[in-house]
Amino acid sequence: MRLQVSADNTSNPLLQPWSTPYGLPPFGAIKSAHFVPAFDLALLQHGVELDAIADQSKPPDFDNTIAALDVSGRLLNRITLLFHNLTASETSPDLQSVQLEMAPRLAAHDNALYMHAGLFARIDTLFAARTTLGLDSEQMRLLERIHLDFVRAGAQLQGPQRARYGAIMGELATLCTQFGQNVLAEESTYTLELRGEADLAGLPAFVLAAAQAAAQQRGLPSGSHAITLSPSLAEPFLTYSSRRDLREALWQARVRRGANDGPHDNRPVAARIMALRQEQATLLGYASYADYQLQDRMAAKTPAVLDLLHQSWAPAKAFADVDRQALTAMATSLGQPTPIAAWDWRYLAQKVRAERFDLDDAALKPYFSLQAMVGAMFDCAQRLFGLRFIEQKGIALHHPDARLWEVRGRDDTLVGLFMGDNFARSSKRSGAWMSVFRSQSGHAGGTLPIVINNNNFAKAETTLLSFDDVRTLFHEFGHGLHGLLSQVRYERLAGTQVLRDFVELPSQLFENWAMEPEVLQRHALHYQTGQAMPAELMDKLKRARQFDQAWATVQYTGPALIDMALHALPNGTPVDIAAFEAEQCDKLGVPADIGLRHGLSHFQHLFNGSSYAAGYYVYMWAEVLEADGFAAFTEAGDPFDAATAERLLRTIYSSGNSQNPADAYRAFRGRDPQVQAMLHKRGLLSTAVA
Ligand SMILES: [Zn+2]
Repeated sequence: MRLQVSADNTSNPLLQPWSTPYGLPPFGAIKSAHFVPAFDLALLQHGVELDAIADQSKPPDFDNTIAALDVSGRLLNRITLLFHNLTASETSPDLQSVQLEMAPRLAAHDNALYMHAGLFARIDTLFAARTTLGLDSEQMRLLERIHLDFVRAGAQLQGPQRARYGAIMGELATLCTQFGQNVLAEESTYTLELRGEADLAGLPAFVLAAAQAAAQQRGLPSGSHAITLSPSLAEPFLTYSSRRDLREALWQARVRRGANDGPHDNRPVAARIMALRQEQATLLGYASYADYQLQDRMAAKTPAVLDLLHQSWAPAKAFADVDRQALTAMATSLGQPTPIAAWDWRYLAQKVRAERFDLDDAALKPYFSLQAMVGAMFDCAQRLFGLRFIEQKGIALHHPDARLWEVRGRDDTLVGLFMGDNFARSSKRSGAWMSVFRSQSGHAGGTLPIVINNNNFAKAETTLLSFDDVRTLFHEFGHGLHGLLSQVRYERLAGTQVLRDFVELPSQLFENWAMEPEVLQRHALHYQTGQAMPAELMDKLKRARQFDQAWATVQYTGPALIDMALHALPNGTPVDIAAFEAEQCDKLGVPADIGLRHGLSHFQHLFNGSSYAAGYYVYMWAEVLEADGFAAFTEAGDPFDAATAERLLRTIYSSGNSQNPADAYRAFRGRDPQVQAMLHKRGLLSTAVA
């Protein structure tokens, strides 16, 4: 069947070949109005491709069915990736309405793909005969992966259940989009205006500069200061502002995101999402949504996750009790009220840290300019994996702040493209993430990856980062390398398309290099004087880093446990998320003066899409792998040990999902991971407290 291309479509840049440099999206020519007609055609075309695979007269074999499926839908994929990147990084009311319109349609298309009886019959036939097909290991992995994708998406359902499943997935897509848009709306409308000198008390110069830039962005008169809910502004404010009343106001606004009455209330949205997830799990034969999710994870079963989380939870709370005593004493000495509250913790911890380690984060920041730290991460990638990053200017991207680099390998061949979009703005969702505009693949002509890293640093004339920001930068770049270094044949197995509790390994592992003394010596140069960070300061940074780990562990582990409890509820249990959260905090004994890193009403990991649902634990799971894995370099006596780096590249960074993750890890480390390195790193092992 041939497709009609209407006159309209020939002027739609989304449907034309992208004859731009590197085949980048033609950002300058794209308008919101192009998306719906482009999706219309691309969805239709993919449907035709799928029918052609299913309806061919030849009996199924790997090439005509599995490999063909892997290359199908390239036009749709190209448009979808671009669309998702734009709605995350540079959205607009027009794009948001396209997003709401397309969410159920894209879900319906996925559903039609996975419910395609003719297609699944061919896949199922091949799967049943898989050991007799003479497949190599990557082909076997792809066949098993695609079969599992279909089964998990309901391909084996019968009768009326098939239509019901499709309806559930469509409604979920709309609700998850709504959830994310509600959080963005609440974050982008909230402003804490600082009026006059008294409101600025305690704020160091870098916070003042960022608050001034934020005020300007919000259209406030020049010279005024504003704090937004963006973590890169809100967290330093909570750390430094000596105005307890303002810290409390900001804290409350953060906690209430998505839980305010009115049009952006996420409480009923999340309740409905939970009901639908439970129904989805029932249809697929699982007792709970957590059981369904964990079947496709390394952890495999809920108890394995709870075991890990509880190994940290009790010791972290115990160590936090000790820290609380020091913070309480500090509050008393400052004449601030006790018992301390959640909006005091960061502020007092910073005071204790400064006193105990003679370290002020504000003194560190001049050594961590964004420019220097981007140079540092590129340098590490070169020393470990031989990559070179060459900036390309003059090419239109989705926003003027975004930058583009060619990535070249040891033999100077082009490996891929890397984009960095580092600054916060109200058209961008909060947080930090890696995404792709195009995945790597090796067959059918092959494609080079186009990878993007997004951060939300406060833009300033010279953007200075906290050490946490530096870690975030390296973290996302670790994901970026996972996408860039991918060397697999099949797109479905490329880069970061690995199991959810393995995907944070390359990113968290890469954070280790940000802390290496020789990296800091070379790159942590004062942005004004060019002087290297003094050894003494570096030493303090290292020692102070252990401090307050208990707080960070409690803040993270609480939400991870609540996520598991929520999704492990037996199907058919109605959920009021506000009541559930309160009840769980009580049951777990979440300290009120620490609180949760994410509350359910704005917990994007859980509700803005499903891939991290029953999956917030993955960061700690990956940390076990990462801490144990980095020890291989320590044992080799060199953080850039060539043989270890080569093994890391071969087994982890380049192998995508072409092998079982446990096998991949064993191939790197020579044994299974051990939990001790993670507990040690978080300071949760020793019984002596200091
Ligand atoms: Zn990550």
